[in-house]
This record gives sequence, C-alpha cells and structure tokens, in this order.
Amino acid sequence: MKSLLLSAYNHLEIADFPAPEAGPDEVLVRVAACGICGSDVHGYDGSSGRRIPPIVMGHEAAGTVAAVGASVKGYAIGDRVTFDSTVFCGTCVFCQRGEVNLCDNRQVIGVSCGDYRRHGAFAEYVAIPERILYHLPDNLSFAEAAMLEATSVALHAVRVSELKGGETALVIGAGMIGLLTLQAARALGCARVMIADIDASRLELARNVGADEILDSSGAELVAEVLKRTEGRGVDLAFEAVGRNETVNTAIDCTRKGGTVTLIGNIQPEVALPLQKVVTRQLRLQGSCASAGEYPQAIELIASGKIKVAPLITSIAPLEEGPRWFARLHAREPNLMKVILKP
Ligand SMILES: [Zn+2]
Ligand SMILES: [Zn+2]
Repeated sequence: MKSLLLSAYNHLEIADFPAPEAGPDEVLVRVAACGICGSDVHGYDGSSGRRIPPIVMGHEAAGTVAAVGASVKGYAIGDRVTFDSTVFCGTCVFCQRGEVNLCDNRQVIGVSCGDYRRHGAFAEYVAIPERILYHLPDNLSFAEAAMLEATSVALHAVRVSELKGGETALVIGAGMIGLLTLQAARALGCARVMIADIDASRLELARNVGADEILDSSGAELVAEVLKRTEGRGVDLAFEAVGRNETVNTAIDCTRKGGTVTLIGNIQPEVALPLQKVVTRQLRLQGSCASAGEYPQAIELIASGKIKVAPLITSIAPLEEGPRWFARLHAREPNLMKVILKP
C-alpha cells in the first residue's frame, strides 16, 4: 500500500509499505483523511523522541471499514468510522475507572518510542482495535472527522474543569487547541469566553468561531485587561493552551480567588509556580491530558454546528504533498492551522 513514511528524521517519503492485517478484535480502515498533528511535527525532527524512524505517523483520521476481524461485532465493511488516537488496554486500574487516557499500557497510533512502534494513518490502510472505533454520521465529512481528536481534547479540558454553567472563562493561546477549547467552553455552558493571543490572524479566527472577546496582549498587559473586564476579580476559569512559564503565570494572575486554572499546553517541561498566590488565593490547578470518552460528544457538537472546525482547516491535500506540508509546518510558516492529507 501507499504510505507516507518517516524513513529518517526530517525525511518523509511516499513509500510502498506492507498493508496491515486486522487482528481478531481489529478493523482494517481504508483511510480517507488524516490530519497532521503538532505532535507529528515535533516527532518528525526527532525533538520529542516519539517518532523513531521508520514510522508511518498519523492519528487524527477517518475512513471506511475495509475488513473486520473474526470477533468484531459492531462494524461491517463499508461503515464510515473514526477512531481515538489512544489505544487503551481496557483492563488496568485506570481503564476500569473509565480514565482510559491514563491507561498504564497506553499506546498512541502512529507513534514509535522506546517501548513500542504502532504505525498510523498516513497510509491507505490502518488496523484499529474495535474498542476505540466510532461510527460517523453521514453529515460529517471525513475531513471534519479528522478534527474530532483535537475537539475531544478540548472537551476533556473543559470537563475536568468541572464547570457548573454561567462562568466567565479566559483561553490563553489561539492555536488549534485554544480555538477548540474556546468553542467547547461555550458549548458546555460558559456564559462568556475571552481568548488572548498576540497573533492577529489567529484572533480573527477566534472571532469567526465565536469568541465573545478577543484580547490582543500578553503578560502584565493582559492581566490588567482581564481584571478591568471582570470588575477587578479575574475570570472564574482560565484555560492555558500554550505551556510556557510566562503564559502559565499569566493564567494564574488572571484567575479569581477560588477559581480554576486548567493546564493543557506543555511546551516547557517546567515552569515557576507562584506558590503563595496559588495557596492564599485558593486556586485549583488542573492538568488535562488527551481525552477519555468525549468522542461521541465531539461528533454531536461538530455535526450540529455548535463547534465549527471548517475555519480551522488550512488545506486538504493529497498524501503525496505530505513531505512539503510537513516542511512548511516545521518551518512555522505563519497562518497555518490544520493540514489534512488524503491517502
Ligand atoms: Zn493529535
Ligand atoms: Zn489500561
């Protein structure tokens, strides 16, 4: 089969690769669309250490069922499907608690690290365990479905923040996850959502997908602006979707006493924690990782138009253009959001 193979760091090629076979509890999916994730770009140059060549990357995908394993019950050839990026084991303590994103034996599709190698969906076919598959409604395109993984990540961040409805929220960072978190926060009940970034084109996108207020500032200037807009109190809930020392600290400073700061971004491995502020203002710092059961909700919210993903798709290109798009994303060319490849 045709595949986009990372044969060496910084080197992608269209290669003939043996098609996978579906195991007894697996489905063979003929891939129709697969998005390039930021983690793929960080894996491509070796910086994350999680895409050790040779590897077919790609975990944000959708397609049609081409073959089913002997014990598969819920899917038939021709069904339109998508799947979670995470393969969980289903038996460990965390899986039994429903926290499948925290599974002890977690593997991610299209990843090769020291512990495992699992080829992904930048190829004509990929084999996927039935337990992470989802049926797609007819009115959801494959390209939109390739945005479900990121949407689920955003919904998970909002869910773990335990909002009750009516909150004022701030999203820091208007990248892909920030723009989806903004929409997820609105869809799940926040009354007012502000978003901050220093990139004007991203803020324009934020306005297009429904931000109530867009803030073109960072650091102390952003804190002052947020306090001014919240009668000096700060927001109930801040979502940090960057993951740097400065932005994490800004998120903390923008949050009211007793509020929650949900941490999604993690570019830097460590940041300085303003301990006395967090303790004396009784803030809750909540980490959020991947998703755990949010796919059905993500499918419903995109299909109903409550979460808009089309404005976040920069290009839908044939698989053959993959090497060029990876190079452009890696070079941090401005105004690129999601690029989707079609095998
Ligand atoms: Zn991803
Ligand atoms: Zn598990």
